[in-house]
Amino acid sequence: MIIKSVDAKKIKDSRQDETISVNIKTDVGAFSASAPNGKSKGKYEKKPYKKSIDKDIETIKKFKEYFSEEHIDKFEDLRRIEDIIKSEVGANTLVALEFAALKAMAKEQKKEIWELIRDSTKIKKQKFPRLVGNSIGGGLHSQEVNKKKPDFQEFLLIPKSHSPFEAYEKNKNAKEDLQILLKQKDEFFKSEKNDENAWRSSLNDKEVLEILITQKIPIGLDVAASSFYGRKKYRYNNPKLDRTIDEQRVYLSNIIKNFGIFYIEDPFEENDFESFSELLKKFPDRLIVGDDLTVTNKKRLEKAIEMKSINAMIIKPNQNGSLIELKEVCEIAKKNNIKTVFSHRSGETNESILADLAVGFGADFIKCGITGKEREVKIKRLIEIEKSLTK
Ligand code: PEP
Ligand code: MG
Repeated sequence: MIIKSVDAKKIKDSRQDETISVNIKTDVGAFSASAPNGKSKGKYEKKPYKKSIDKDIETIKKFKEYFSEEHIDKFEDLRRIEDIIKSEVGANTLVALEFAALKAMAKEQKKEIWELIRDSTKIKKQKFPRLVGNSIGGGLHSQEVNKKKPDFQEFLLIPKSHSPFEAYEKNKNAKEDLQILLKQKDEFFKSEKNDENAWRSSLNDKEVLEILITQKIPIGLDVAASSFYGRKKYRYNNPKLDRTIDEQRVYLSNIIKNFGIFYIEDPFEENDFESFSELLKKFPDRLIVGDDLTVTNKKRLEKAIEMKSINAMIIKPNQNGSLIELKEVCEIAKKNNIKTVFSHRSGETNESILADLAVGFGADFIKCGITGKEREVKIKRLIEIEKSLTK
């Protein structure tokens, strides 16, 4: 496949913030793809744009002639795109361009996108990723309800099923049940949704967990602790509950024990590899997940492995921008028994390629919400792949 020209424009994400959509014209047709936006971003993520979205759009147009010299036929050829433009643009621009190139390659080879990454005979033996769905939210993704909200960013439901179809049904039903329970338990609940389409509530973390355990579905938490850490303390909504590092360790250990938490993401701030390891030592049978800690970055993953900080990690393509490095990160994770959780961002677009990447790279989990158009396109694509393989 040859990229004949490249163009880009600004579009709105689900939060109505600007993001980038890249369009390519190739010898097999025109293809476009977009990148999402984070809000509780890790400090060590690559920047979405080199200077600004407008500058990246200009740059990509300036470099368009360079691409027509290259044949891009297989996943590894994305390296050629990276050689030309990686140092010139930010992670969102690069990843959207690589997504579009994958779409063109798939068309040329009459394959599905995931088949460019892993061949279909191996996929048949592999389990589908389990869904990780945000049901109730707090933290940076949620506005207050009656001046209150949970401190933790995401209260996640993770059905045991490896069938995305089954898991999707379970999560949708549970989210409806939770709406009824919230109406009973939260006098200020108005059925409002947050950035990721999860319920907003005035309840505190423990009260939300009390409701969640009624669903009999394994529970996950994204504490997103970096977003409320400062001056050596975790700053809770109620200042009386601010916690030192040691207090945060004890508090979260109790939460894990008392509520049988199966998955906990970013329990500590993004530099505290040590507290992560302490928690993993204490709870080796739970998933201790790095997101802001590892930012889909090879070096940070290697440090987490050396420190024994995690047994699972978030993979967000636009935290890095390079799909070549993302592949390496997944390979290192697999070799070290670290589960991978392919993840959306809080500001999403209608792009569904995350599902193809998750299947292609053999992800253990996929975190992309429960309801809402931008979330469901990804789940529906996963179900479509599931159906095509179980015919
Ligand atoms: C997350 O922290 O897992 C997340 C999806 O947040 P954001 O996209 O806002 O960085
Ligand atoms: Mg996170």
